[in-house]
Amino acid sequence: MSGYIPPLARLIDEFAAMPGVGRRSAARMAFHVLKMPEAQANSLAEAIVEAKKKIKYCSVCCNITDTDPCEICRSGRRDRSIICVVENARDVVALENTNEYKGLYHVLHGVISPMDGIGPEDIRIKELLPRITDEVKEVIVATNPTIEGEATAMYISKLLSPFSVKVTRIAHGLPMGGDLEYADEITLTKAMEGRHEI
Ligand code: ZN
Repeated sequence: MSGYIPPLARLIDEFAAMPGVGRRSAARMAFHVLKMPEAQANSLAEAIVEAKKKIKYCSVCCNITDTDPCEICRSGRRDRSIICVVENARDVVALENTNEYKGLYHVLHGVISPMDGIGPEDIRIKELLPRITDEVKEVIVATNPTIEGEATAMYISKLLSPFSVKVTRIAHGLPMGGDLEYADEITLTKAMEGRHEI
């Protein structure tokens, strides 16, 4: 028994299911929604439905997109000889914000983590293989500097060893256990510049 009337309890439960939102914050958000004009509340609900309906995965790089292929994969101004492999779509945003990287991306949507029961087949690794054509000269593995990120980088490096493509790992200007998406642009640019072959 939460003590809340059922429609409110439901709303609080939905907010509380979001990452990083505790029950107290969820209750605050739910009460905020109650105070909203109806048009604003409808707009919020529509935004959620529309995002879920329109946003899909790019059939080439697996990044989230509302067009397929995505804008980056379609662009004639990207360097098609380099593919940067990242853990999630937020990392693409972080790297794009540096304005330095001009290659393509491949989004894994996770990392290999045996502890959590996540194997290579659970993330978008196999989708990378058909992309390794003669045109591609380098694959930069930019997974986070965590144990799982390193293990994933090693796996990709082994997987690509039969191909004549250079596989590099971003430098550790990033702190161990750090998160790519939270690194500042200079640190991120330096990490990319200092990459080494693996
Ligand atoms: Zn794409």
